[in-house]
Amino acid sequence: MIEDLRRLEDGAELETDVCVVGAGAAGIALAREFLAGDTRVILLESGGLRSDRAEEALNEGEAAGMSADSLTEGRERVLGGTTALWAGQCLPAEPSVFEPRDWVAHSGWPFDERELEPFYRRAEALFRIEGEVYDERVWDSFGVERPAVDPSRLVHRFTVWCPHPQLGRLYRKELERSAAVRVLLHATATRVRATSGRFEAVTVRGPDGRTATVRARRCVLAGGAIENARLLLASGLGNDVVGRYFQDHPNSHSATVETDRPARLQEIYGLLYRRGVRYLPRLVLAPELQRSHQVLGCAAYPVFHFGDESAIEASRRVYRALRGRRRPESLGRELGLIARGAPRLAPVVYRRVVHRRAARVRPERVTLQTHAEQAPNPDSRVTLSQRRDEFGEPLPKVDWRLTDLDRRTAEVMVETVAAEFGRLGLGEVRAQPAQVSDAFHQMGTTRMGSDPATSATDPDGQVREVAGLYAAGASLFPAAGYVNPTLTLAALAIRLGDHLKS
Ligand SMILES: Cc1cc2nc3c(=O)[nH]c(=O)nc-3n(C[C@H](O)[C@H](O)[C@H](O)COP(=O)(O)OP(=O)(O)OC[C@H]3O[C@@H](n4cnc5c(N)ncnc54)[C@H](O)[C@@H]3O)c2cc1C
Repeated sequence: MIEDLRRLEDGAELETDVCVVGAGAAGIALAREFLAGDTRVILLESGGLRSDRAEEALNEGEAAGMSADSLTEGRERVLGGTTALWAGQCLPAEPSVFEPRDWVAHSGWPFDERELEPFYRRAEALFRIEGEVYDERVWDSFGVERPAVDPSRLVHRFTVWCPHPQLGRLYRKELERSAAVRVLLHATATRVRATSGRFEAVTVRGPDGRTATVRARRCVLAGGAIENARLLLASGLGNDVVGRYFQDHPNSHSATVETDRPARLQEIYGLLYRRGVRYLPRLVLAPELQRSHQVLGCAAYPVFHFGDESAIEASRRVYRALRGRRRPESLGRELGLIARGAPRLAPVVYRRVVHRRAARVRPERVTLQTHAEQAPNPDSRVTLSQRRDEFGEPLPKVDWRLTDLDRRTAEVMVETVAAEFGRLGLGEVRAQPAQVSDAFHQMGTTRMGSDPATSATDPDGQVREVAGLYAAGASLFPAAGYVNPTLTLAALAIRLGDHLKS
Protein backbone atom coordinates (compact mmCIF):
# COMPACT_ATOMS: atom_id res chain seq x y z
CA MET A 1 0.00 0.00 0.00
CA ILE A 2 1.05 3.59 -0.49
CA GLU A 3 0.26 6.16 2.20
CA ASP A 4 1.21 9.73 3.02
CA LEU A 5 2.76 10.61 6.38
CA ARG A 6 0.59 13.75 6.44
CA ARG A 7 -2.49 11.49 6.79
CA LEU A 8 -1.17 9.80 9.97
CA GLU A 9 -1.65 11.30 13.41
CA ASP A 10 1.23 13.39 14.70
CA GLY A 11 3.60 11.33 16.86
CA ALA A 12 2.48 8.01 15.34
CA GLU A 13 4.41 4.96 16.61
CA LEU A 14 4.79 2.37 13.85
CA GLU A 15 6.20 -1.10 14.16
CA THR A 16 7.43 -3.43 11.42
CA ASP A 17 9.93 -6.17 10.56
CA VAL A 18 12.12 -4.21 8.12
CA CYS A 19 12.28 -0.44 7.73
CA VAL A 20 13.82 0.79 4.44
CA VAL A 21 14.85 4.45 4.19
CA GLY A 22 14.53 5.69 0.60
CA ALA A 23 12.46 4.47 -2.36
CA GLY A 24 14.98 4.93 -5.17
CA ALA A 25 16.63 2.21 -7.25
CA ALA A 26 18.06 0.39 -4.21
CA GLY A 27 15.00 0.80 -1.95
CA ILE A 28 12.53 -0.36 -4.61
CA ALA A 29 14.76 -3.27 -5.70
CA LEU A 30 14.90 -4.38 -2.05
CA ALA A 31 11.24 -3.78 -1.15
CA ARG A 32 10.05 -5.73 -4.20
CA GLU A 33 11.68 -8.82 -2.67
CA PHE A 34 9.07 -8.66 0.12
CA LEU A 35 5.91 -7.81 -1.87
CA ALA A 36 4.21 -11.14 -1.33
CA GLY A 37 5.67 -12.75 1.81
CA ASP A 38 4.94 -12.51 5.54
CA THR A 39 7.72 -10.03 6.30
CA ARG A 40 6.26 -6.59 6.93
CA VAL A 41 8.20 -3.72 5.39
CA ILE A 42 7.83 0.03 5.84
CA LEU A 43 9.46 1.94 2.97
CA LEU A 44 10.04 5.56 3.96
CA GLU A 45 10.26 8.03 1.08
CA SER A 46 11.09 11.67 1.58
CA GLY A 47 9.38 12.71 -1.67
CA GLY A 48 5.91 12.15 -3.08
CA LEU A 49 4.49 10.63 -6.24
CA ARG A 50 5.67 13.57 -8.35
CA SER A 51 8.85 15.66 -8.23
CA ASP A 52 8.38 18.81 -6.21
CA ARG A 53 10.74 21.79 -5.82
CA ALA A 54 9.89 21.96 -2.08
CA GLU A 55 11.62 18.60 -1.51
CA GLU A 56 14.64 19.63 -3.59
CA ALA A 57 15.90 21.86 -0.75
CA LEU A 58 16.54 18.71 1.28
CA ASN A 59 19.17 17.72 -1.31
CA GLU A 60 21.20 20.87 -0.83
CA GLY A 61 24.61 20.83 0.78
CA GLU A 62 28.15 22.14 0.58
CA ALA A 63 30.59 20.83 -1.97
CA ALA A 64 34.28 21.15 -2.77
CA GLY A 65 35.91 19.63 -5.87
CA MET A 66 32.53 19.45 -7.59
CA SER A 67 29.67 21.89 -8.11
CA ALA A 68 27.18 22.11 -5.21
CA ASP A 69 24.53 22.04 -7.97
CA SER A 70 25.41 18.35 -8.47
CA LEU A 71 23.81 17.63 -5.11
CA THR A 72 20.43 18.98 -6.26
CA GLU A 73 20.65 18.26 -10.01
CA GLY A 74 22.08 14.79 -9.47
CA ARG A 75 19.58 13.54 -6.87
CA GLU A 76 15.79 13.49 -6.77
CA ARG A 77 13.34 13.10 -3.88
CA VAL A 78 10.31 11.30 -5.31
CA LEU A 79 8.96 7.74 -5.43
CA GLY A 80 11.63 6.15 -7.68
CA GLY A 81 14.37 8.49 -6.43
CA THR A 82 17.02 9.54 -8.92
CA THR A 83 15.67 7.06 -11.48
CA ALA A 84 13.36 10.02 -12.27
CA LEU A 85 16.45 11.67 -13.78
CA TRP A 86 18.82 8.92 -14.84
CA ALA A 87 19.45 7.84 -18.41
CA GLY A 88 18.87 4.17 -17.57
CA GLN A 89 22.24 2.88 -18.84
CA CYS A 90 22.93 -0.57 -17.43
CA LEU A 91 26.15 -2.60 -17.54
CA PRO A 92 27.51 -5.12 -15.00
CA ALA A 93 30.80 -4.27 -13.28
CA GLU A 94 33.96 -5.68 -14.87
CA PRO A 95 35.24 -8.87 -13.14
CA SER A 96 38.64 -7.15 -12.64
CA VAL A 97 37.14 -4.55 -10.27
CA PHE A 98 36.38 -7.23 -7.64
CA GLU A 99 40.07 -8.26 -7.48
CA PRO A 100 42.61 -6.36 -5.39
CA ARG A 101 44.97 -4.56 -7.83
CA ASP A 102 48.44 -4.08 -6.33
CA TRP A 103 48.85 -0.66 -8.02
CA VAL A 104 45.50 0.67 -6.67
CA ALA A 105 45.44 1.22 -2.90
CA HIS A 106 42.25 0.01 -1.15
CA SER A 107 41.02 -1.84 -4.28
CA GLY A 108 39.12 -5.15 -4.36
CA TRP A 109 35.75 -6.28 -3.04
CA PRO A 110 35.16 -8.77 -0.21
CA PHE A 111 33.87 -11.27 -2.83
CA ASP A 112 34.39 -11.93 -6.52
CA GLU A 113 32.01 -11.40 -9.44
CA ARG A 114 30.58 -14.93 -9.21
CA GLU A 115 28.83 -13.93 -5.98
CA LEU A 116 26.86 -11.23 -7.83
CA GLU A 117 26.15 -13.22 -11.01
CA PRO A 118 22.66 -14.57 -10.02
CA PHE A 119 21.68 -11.18 -8.61
CA TYR A 120 22.64 -9.41 -11.85
CA ARG A 121 20.13 -11.66 -13.65
CA ARG A 122 17.42 -10.66 -11.15
CA ALA A 123 18.40 -6.97 -11.45
CA GLU A 124 18.11 -7.24 -15.24
CA ALA A 125 14.56 -8.53 -14.75
CA LEU A 126 13.86 -5.51 -12.48
CA PHE A 127 14.98 -3.16 -15.28
CA ARG A 128 13.23 -5.28 -17.97
CA ILE A 129 16.42 -6.02 -19.89
CA GLU A 130 16.54 -9.80 -19.47
CA GLY A 131 18.62 -11.67 -22.03
CA GLU A 132 20.54 -8.59 -23.21
CA VAL A 133 24.30 -8.79 -23.86
CA TYR A 134 26.85 -6.03 -23.31
CA ASP A 135 29.56 -6.76 -25.86
CA GLU A 136 30.25 -6.71 -29.60
CA ARG A 137 27.47 -9.22 -30.24
CA VAL A 138 25.16 -6.19 -30.15
CA TRP A 139 26.86 -4.89 -33.32
CA ASP A 140 26.50 -8.33 -34.94
CA SER A 141 22.75 -8.28 -34.28
CA PHE A 142 22.47 -4.89 -36.05
CA GLY A 143 24.76 -5.93 -38.94
CA VAL A 144 27.52 -3.44 -37.96
CA GLU A 145 31.06 -4.52 -38.78
CA ARG A 146 33.24 -4.68 -35.64
CA PRO A 147 36.23 -2.31 -35.72
CA ALA A 148 39.41 -4.37 -35.30
CA VAL A 149 40.80 -2.72 -32.16
CA ASP A 150 43.68 -4.54 -30.47
CA PRO A 151 41.94 -6.49 -27.65
CA SER A 152 45.04 -6.36 -25.47
CA ARG A 153 44.65 -2.54 -25.44
CA LEU A 154 40.97 -1.76 -25.87
CA VAL A 155 37.72 -3.72 -25.67
CA HIS A 156 34.17 -2.65 -26.50
CA ARG A 157 31.33 -2.70 -23.98
CA PHE A 158 27.73 -1.67 -24.63
CA THR A 159 25.54 0.04 -22.08
CA VAL A 160 21.95 -1.17 -22.35
CA TRP A 161 19.43 1.62 -21.66
CA CYS A 162 16.42 0.15 -19.90
CA PRO A 163 13.04 0.89 -21.52
CA HIS A 164 11.18 2.13 -18.38
CA PRO A 165 13.80 4.03 -16.36
CA GLN A 166 11.53 5.59 -13.69
CA LEU A 167 11.14 2.74 -11.22
CA GLY A 168 8.58 4.63 -9.11
CA ARG A 169 6.21 4.82 -12.05
CA LEU A 170 7.02 1.29 -13.23
CA TYR A 171 6.34 -0.34 -9.85
CA ARG A 172 3.80 2.02 -8.27
CA LYS A 173 0.82 -0.33 -8.89
CA GLU A 174 2.70 -3.33 -7.46
CA LEU A 175 3.56 -1.34 -4.33
CA GLU A 176 -0.05 -0.13 -4.01
CA ARG A 177 -1.39 -3.68 -4.18
CA SER A 178 1.09 -5.18 -1.70
CA ALA A 179 -0.20 -5.89 1.80
CA ALA A 180 3.31 -6.63 3.09
CA VAL A 181 5.03 -3.44 1.90
CA ARG A 182 3.75 -0.15 3.25
CA VAL A 183 5.19 2.90 1.48
CA LEU A 184 5.08 6.13 3.47
CA LEU A 185 5.49 9.21 1.26
CA HIS A 186 6.65 12.66 2.44
CA ALA A 187 8.38 10.80 5.28
CA THR A 188 11.98 11.93 5.81
CA ALA A 189 14.12 9.89 8.20
CA THR A 190 16.01 12.44 10.28
CA ARG A 191 17.68 10.24 12.90
CA VAL A 192 18.50 6.57 13.35
CA ARG A 193 18.56 5.33 16.92
CA ALA A 194 20.47 2.39 18.36
CA THR A 195 20.81 1.04 21.89
CA SER A 196 23.67 -1.16 23.13
CA GLY A 197 25.01 -1.61 19.60
CA ARG A 198 21.65 -2.70 18.14
CA PHE A 199 19.33 -0.80 15.81
CA GLU A 200 16.17 0.39 17.54
CA ALA A 201 14.12 2.97 15.61
CA VAL A 202 14.02 5.72 12.98
CA THR A 203 12.68 9.21 13.67
CA VAL A 204 10.62 10.51 10.77
CA ARG A 205 9.52 14.05 9.92
CA GLY A 206 6.94 15.33 7.44
CA PRO A 207 6.99 18.63 5.54
CA ASP A 208 4.21 19.94 7.81
CA GLY A 209 6.30 19.32 10.95
CA ARG A 210 4.53 16.05 11.81
CA THR A 211 6.73 13.36 13.38
CA ALA A 212 6.56 9.59 13.59
CA THR A 213 8.73 6.79 14.96
CA VAL A 214 9.30 3.52 13.13
CA ARG A 215 10.52 0.60 15.22
CA ALA A 216 11.78 -2.44 13.33
CA ARG A 217 13.84 -5.56 13.79
CA ARG A 218 16.06 -4.47 10.91
CA CYS A 219 16.63 -1.20 9.09
CA VAL A 220 18.20 -0.56 5.67
CA LEU A 221 19.50 2.88 4.67
CA ALA A 222 18.88 3.31 0.93
CA GLY A 223 18.95 7.09 0.56
CA GLY A 224 21.95 7.28 -1.82
CA ALA A 225 25.66 7.47 -0.95
CA ILE A 226 25.57 11.06 0.35
CA GLU A 227 22.40 10.66 2.40
CA ASN A 228 23.41 7.28 3.86
CA ALA A 229 26.60 8.88 5.19
CA ARG A 230 24.79 12.01 6.37
CA LEU A 231 22.20 10.01 8.33
CA LEU A 232 24.82 7.83 10.01
CA LEU A 233 27.04 10.80 10.87
CA ALA A 234 24.13 12.91 12.16
CA SER A 235 22.99 9.95 14.27
CA GLY A 236 26.50 9.31 15.61
CA LEU A 237 26.46 5.71 14.35
CA GLY A 238 29.07 3.54 12.62
CA ASN A 239 32.86 3.70 12.64
CA ASP A 240 35.37 6.29 11.41
CA VAL A 241 35.17 4.99 7.83
CA VAL A 242 31.59 6.29 7.38
CA GLY A 243 31.61 9.08 4.78
CA ARG A 244 35.13 8.26 3.53
CA TYR A 245 36.18 6.84 0.14
CA PHE A 246 33.54 8.97 -1.60
CA GLN A 247 33.80 8.29 -5.35
CA ASP A 248 32.18 9.46 -8.57
CA HIS A 249 33.15 9.06 -12.24
CA PRO A 250 35.41 11.88 -13.46
CA ASN A 251 33.85 12.87 -16.77
CA SER A 252 35.50 15.01 -19.41
CA HIS A 253 35.65 15.81 -23.12
CA SER A 254 39.35 14.93 -22.97
CA ALA A 255 40.17 15.04 -26.69
CA THR A 256 39.00 16.13 -30.11
CA VAL A 257 38.64 13.69 -33.00
CA GLU A 258 39.50 15.03 -36.47
CA THR A 259 38.14 13.00 -39.34
CA ASP A 260 36.99 13.73 -42.87
CA ARG A 261 34.72 10.67 -42.68
CA PRO A 262 32.59 11.30 -39.55
CA ALA A 263 29.83 9.10 -41.00
CA ARG A 264 32.08 6.06 -40.50
CA LEU A 265 32.54 6.92 -36.81
CA GLN A 266 28.79 7.54 -36.44
CA GLU A 267 28.08 4.19 -38.09
CA ILE A 268 30.23 2.41 -35.49
CA TYR A 269 29.79 4.48 -32.34
CA GLY A 270 26.25 5.87 -32.76
CA LEU A 271 23.35 4.73 -30.57
CA LEU A 272 21.38 1.67 -31.66
CA TYR A 273 17.68 1.17 -30.94
CA ARG A 274 15.49 -1.93 -30.60
CA ARG A 275 12.06 -2.40 -28.98
CA GLY A 276 12.43 0.56 -26.61
CA VAL A 277 15.98 -0.39 -25.60
CA ARG A 278 19.01 1.70 -26.61
CA TYR A 279 22.61 0.54 -26.86
CA LEU A 280 25.71 2.75 -26.59
CA PRO A 281 29.06 1.28 -27.66
CA ARG A 282 32.03 2.38 -25.57
CA LEU A 283 35.74 1.81 -25.76
CA VAL A 284 37.17 0.45 -22.52
CA LEU A 285 40.79 0.05 -21.37
CA ALA A 286 41.66 -3.67 -21.47
CA PRO A 287 42.60 -5.17 -18.05
CA GLU A 288 46.10 -6.08 -19.40
CA LEU A 289 46.74 -2.47 -20.35
CA GLN A 290 45.45 -1.21 -16.98
CA ARG A 291 48.01 -3.51 -15.35
CA SER A 292 50.93 -2.71 -17.66
CA HIS A 293 50.32 1.06 -17.41
CA GLN A 294 49.29 0.90 -13.71
CA VAL A 295 46.06 2.83 -14.28
CA LEU A 296 42.37 2.46 -13.41
CA GLY A 297 39.37 1.38 -15.48
CA CYS A 298 38.11 3.88 -18.04
CA ALA A 299 35.54 4.11 -20.83
CA ALA A 300 35.42 6.57 -23.73
CA TYR A 301 33.17 7.28 -26.68
CA PRO A 302 33.02 9.80 -29.51
CA VAL A 303 30.40 12.53 -29.01
CA PHE A 304 29.01 14.25 -32.11
CA HIS A 305 28.23 17.96 -31.73
CA PHE A 306 25.88 19.61 -34.21
CA GLY A 307 26.02 23.21 -32.92
CA ASP A 308 23.85 24.80 -30.23
CA GLU A 309 21.57 26.38 -32.82
CA SER A 310 20.91 23.12 -34.67
CA ALA A 311 17.54 21.37 -34.62
CA ILE A 312 19.22 18.17 -33.40
CA GLU A 313 20.73 19.81 -30.29
CA ALA A 314 17.46 21.73 -29.65
CA SER A 315 15.40 18.54 -29.79
CA ARG A 316 17.94 16.80 -27.49
CA ARG A 317 17.58 19.62 -24.94
CA VAL A 318 13.78 19.43 -25.08
CA TYR A 319 13.89 15.64 -24.71
CA ARG A 320 16.24 15.82 -21.72
CA ALA A 321 14.09 18.46 -20.00
CA LEU A 322 10.89 16.49 -20.53
CA ARG A 323 12.52 13.31 -19.28
CA GLY A 324 13.48 15.15 -16.12
CA ARG A 325 9.87 16.47 -15.97
CA ARG A 326 11.16 20.03 -16.31
CA ARG A 327 9.86 22.71 -18.63
CA PRO A 328 12.62 23.33 -21.20
CA GLU A 329 14.35 26.70 -20.80
CA SER A 330 13.03 29.07 -23.52
CA LEU A 331 10.71 26.49 -25.06
CA GLY A 332 9.61 28.93 -27.76
CA ARG A 333 13.18 29.38 -29.01
CA GLU A 334 13.81 25.61 -28.99
CA LEU A 335 10.62 24.93 -30.99
CA GLY A 336 11.65 27.68 -33.44
CA LEU A 337 15.06 26.03 -33.94
CA ILE A 338 13.41 22.64 -34.42
CA ALA A 339 10.90 24.05 -36.97
CA ARG A 340 13.63 25.89 -38.89
CA GLY A 341 15.85 22.80 -38.96
CA ALA A 342 13.02 20.40 -39.80
CA PRO A 343 14.35 19.49 -43.27
CA ARG A 344 17.67 18.46 -41.66
CA LEU A 345 15.87 16.66 -38.85
CA ALA A 346 13.64 14.58 -41.14
CA PRO A 347 16.38 12.13 -42.29
CA VAL A 348 17.49 11.78 -38.64
CA VAL A 349 13.97 10.76 -37.59
CA TYR A 350 13.69 8.44 -40.61
CA ARG A 351 17.00 6.76 -39.79
CA ARG A 352 16.00 6.39 -36.14
CA VAL A 353 12.57 4.90 -36.88
CA VAL A 354 13.33 2.80 -39.96
CA HIS A 355 16.97 1.82 -39.44
CA ARG A 356 16.97 2.01 -35.60
CA ARG A 357 20.20 4.00 -35.75
CA ALA A 358 21.38 7.41 -34.56
CA ALA A 359 21.91 10.48 -36.75
CA ARG A 360 24.47 10.35 -39.58
CA VAL A 361 24.24 14.07 -40.24
CA ARG A 362 27.64 15.73 -40.62
CA PRO A 363 28.63 16.99 -37.13
CA GLU A 364 30.22 20.37 -36.49
CA ARG A 365 32.89 18.68 -34.35
CA VAL A 366 33.61 15.41 -32.58
CA THR A 367 35.03 15.04 -29.08
CA LEU A 368 36.13 12.01 -27.11
CA GLN A 369 34.34 11.83 -23.78
CA THR A 370 36.15 9.88 -21.06
CA HIS A 371 34.32 8.35 -18.14
CA ALA A 372 36.87 7.06 -15.66
CA GLU A 373 37.13 5.13 -12.44
CA GLN A 374 38.62 7.02 -9.51
CA ALA A 375 40.87 5.39 -6.95
CA PRO A 376 39.29 4.72 -3.52
CA ASN A 377 40.63 7.57 -1.39
CA PRO A 378 39.88 7.93 2.36
CA ASP A 379 40.34 11.72 2.11
CA SER A 380 37.59 12.07 -0.49
CA ARG A 381 34.67 12.20 1.87
CA VAL A 382 31.23 13.29 3.06
CA THR A 383 31.09 15.06 6.44
CA LEU A 384 28.49 17.27 8.11
CA SER A 385 28.11 20.95 7.26
CA GLN A 386 27.40 23.72 9.79
CA ARG A 387 24.34 24.57 7.64
CA ARG A 388 21.06 22.92 8.56
CA ASP A 389 18.01 21.75 6.63
CA GLU A 390 14.36 22.64 7.35
CA PHE A 391 14.25 19.98 10.08
CA GLY A 392 17.28 21.50 11.82
CA GLU A 393 19.50 18.59 10.74
CA PRO A 394 23.05 19.20 9.43
CA LEU A 395 23.36 19.23 5.63
CA PRO A 396 26.11 17.14 4.00
CA LYS A 397 29.47 18.57 3.04
CA VAL A 398 31.01 16.72 0.10
CA ASP A 399 34.75 16.99 -0.50
CA TRP A 400 35.38 15.20 -3.81
CA ARG A 401 39.10 14.64 -4.32
CA LEU A 402 40.85 13.34 -7.39
CA THR A 403 44.37 11.89 -7.34
CA ASP A 404 47.21 11.87 -9.90
CA LEU A 405 46.26 8.27 -10.72
CA ASP A 406 42.72 9.39 -11.67
CA ARG A 407 44.09 12.10 -13.98
CA ARG A 408 46.71 9.80 -15.48
CA THR A 409 44.02 7.22 -16.29
CA ALA A 410 42.15 9.63 -18.59
CA GLU A 411 45.45 10.57 -20.27
CA VAL A 412 46.29 6.92 -20.96
CA MET A 413 42.77 6.40 -22.33
CA VAL A 414 43.26 9.25 -24.81
CA GLU A 415 46.74 8.03 -25.83
CA THR A 416 45.41 4.51 -26.38
CA VAL A 417 42.38 5.56 -28.42
CA ALA A 418 44.61 7.92 -30.43
CA ALA A 419 46.97 5.06 -31.30
CA GLU A 420 44.16 2.65 -32.21
CA PHE A 421 42.05 5.17 -34.17
CA GLY A 422 45.21 6.24 -36.02
CA ARG A 423 46.08 2.62 -36.90
CA LEU A 424 42.52 1.90 -38.08
CA GLY A 425 42.13 5.21 -39.96
CA LEU A 426 39.17 6.23 -37.79
CA GLY A 427 40.46 9.72 -37.03
CA GLU A 428 43.15 11.79 -35.42
CA VAL A 429 42.64 12.02 -31.65
CA ARG A 430 44.24 15.03 -29.93
CA ALA A 431 44.21 15.60 -26.17
CA GLN A 432 42.66 18.91 -25.14
CA PRO A 433 42.55 20.67 -21.76
CA ALA A 434 39.07 20.02 -20.47
CA GLN A 435 37.04 20.58 -17.36
CA VAL A 436 36.44 17.45 -15.28
CA SER A 437 32.99 17.06 -13.75
CA ASP A 438 31.25 14.37 -11.74
CA ALA A 439 28.72 12.08 -13.42
CA PHE A 440 26.05 12.19 -10.65
CA HIS A 441 27.24 8.68 -9.70
CA GLN A 442 27.80 9.09 -5.95
CA MET A 443 29.53 5.98 -4.52
CA GLY A 444 31.58 4.81 -1.54
CA THR A 445 30.91 6.32 1.96
CA THR A 446 29.71 3.05 3.59
CA ARG A 447 32.08 0.69 1.77
CA MET A 448 31.82 -3.06 2.39
CA GLY A 449 34.84 -5.04 3.47
CA SER A 450 36.23 -7.70 5.73
CA ASP A 451 38.56 -5.37 7.66
CA PRO A 452 36.82 -2.93 10.05
CA ALA A 453 39.80 -0.54 9.71
CA THR A 454 38.96 0.12 6.07
CA SER A 455 35.25 -0.68 5.81
CA ALA A 456 32.09 0.90 7.22
CA THR A 457 29.95 -2.19 6.55
CA ASP A 458 30.61 -5.92 6.54
CA PRO A 459 30.33 -8.01 3.35
CA ASP A 460 26.52 -8.22 3.84
CA GLY A 461 26.20 -4.45 4.11
CA GLN A 462 25.61 -4.43 7.88
CA VAL A 463 26.85 -1.21 9.47
CA ARG A 464 29.81 -1.87 11.74
CA GLU A 465 29.06 -1.56 15.47
CA VAL A 466 25.25 -1.48 14.90
CA ALA A 467 23.58 -4.90 14.66
CA GLY A 468 20.42 -4.91 12.53
CA LEU A 469 21.32 -1.72 10.63
CA TYR A 470 22.30 -2.10 6.95
CA ALA A 471 23.20 0.14 4.03
CA ALA A 472 22.11 -0.43 0.42
CA GLY A 473 23.10 1.34 -2.78
CA ALA A 474 26.39 2.41 -4.34
CA SER A 475 27.60 3.63 -0.94
CA LEU A 476 28.61 -0.03 -0.45
CA PHE A 477 31.04 -0.11 -3.40
CA PRO A 478 34.61 -0.53 -2.10
CA ALA A 479 36.05 0.24 -5.56
CA ALA A 480 33.75 1.76 -8.13
CA GLY A 481 35.13 0.67 -11.51
CA TYR A 482 34.23 2.83 -14.52
CA VAL A 483 30.78 1.25 -14.98
CA ASN A 484 27.53 3.16 -14.32
CA PRO A 485 26.53 2.00 -10.84
CA THR A 486 22.80 1.30 -10.83
CA LEU A 487 22.57 -2.26 -12.19
CA THR A 488 25.22 -3.33 -9.67
CA LEU A 489 23.63 -1.52 -6.72
CA ALA A 490 20.26 -3.09 -7.59
CA ALA A 491 21.92 -6.54 -7.72
CA LEU A 492 23.42 -5.87 -4.27
CA ALA A 493 20.03 -4.74 -2.91
CA ILE A 494 18.38 -7.95 -4.15
CA ARG A 495 21.21 -9.93 -2.54
CA LEU A 496 20.54 -8.09 0.73
CA GLY A 497 16.85 -9.03 0.38
CA ASP A 498 17.82 -12.72 0.34
CA HIS A 499 20.10 -12.19 3.34
CA LEU A 500 17.33 -10.49 5.35
CA LYS A 501 14.86 -13.25 4.47
CA SER A 502 17.29 -15.89 5.71
C1 LIG B 1 21.08 12.84 -14.87
C2 LIG B 1 21.49 11.50 -14.30
C3 LIG B 1 21.79 10.46 -15.15
C4 LIG B 1 22.16 9.22 -14.63
N1 LIG B 1 22.38 8.20 -15.51
C5 LIG B 1 22.70 6.98 -15.03
C6 LIG B 1 22.84 5.87 -15.91
O1 LIG B 1 22.63 5.99 -17.12
N2 LIG B 1 23.18 4.67 -15.37
C7 LIG B 1 23.40 4.50 -14.05
O2 LIG B 1 23.73 3.39 -13.62
N3 LIG B 1 23.20 5.52 -13.17
C8 LIG B 1 22.86 6.75 -13.63
N4 LIG B 1 22.64 7.77 -12.75
C9 LIG B 1 22.79 7.49 -11.30
C10 LIG B 1 21.56 6.77 -10.77
O3 LIG B 1 20.43 7.60 -10.88
C11 LIG B 1 21.82 6.39 -9.30
O4 LIG B 1 22.94 5.51 -9.29
C12 LIG B 1 20.67 5.65 -8.64
O5 LIG B 1 19.45 6.31 -8.79
C13 LIG B 1 21.00 5.50 -7.15
O6 LIG B 1 20.00 4.72 -6.54
P1 LIG B 1 19.71 4.83 -4.96
O7 LIG B 1 18.48 4.08 -4.70
O8 LIG B 1 20.94 4.51 -4.22
O9 LIG B 1 19.48 6.40 -4.74
P2 LIG B 1 18.31 7.30 -5.31
O10 LIG B 1 17.81 6.76 -6.59
O11 LIG B 1 18.81 8.68 -5.28
O12 LIG B 1 17.13 7.12 -4.26
C14 LIG B 1 17.26 7.55 -2.94
C15 LIG B 1 15.85 7.80 -2.42
O13 LIG B 1 15.94 7.97 -1.03
C16 LIG B 1 15.12 9.05 -0.65
N5 LIG B 1 15.69 9.60 0.58
C17 LIG B 1 16.89 10.19 0.72
N6 LIG B 1 17.08 10.53 1.99
C18 LIG B 1 15.97 10.15 2.68
C19 LIG B 1 15.58 10.23 4.04
N7 LIG B 1 16.39 10.76 4.96
N8 LIG B 1 14.38 9.74 4.39
C20 LIG B 1 13.56 9.19 3.46
N9 LIG B 1 13.87 9.09 2.16
C21 LIG B 1 15.08 9.56 1.77
C22 LIG B 1 15.19 10.02 -1.80
O14 LIG B 1 14.07 10.86 -1.80
C23 LIG B 1 15.21 9.07 -2.98
O15 LIG B 1 13.92 8.77 -3.44
C24 LIG B 1 22.26 9.03 -13.23
C25 LIG B 1 21.94 10.08 -12.37
C26 LIG B 1 21.56 11.31 -12.89
C27 LIG B 1 21.22 12.41 -11.96
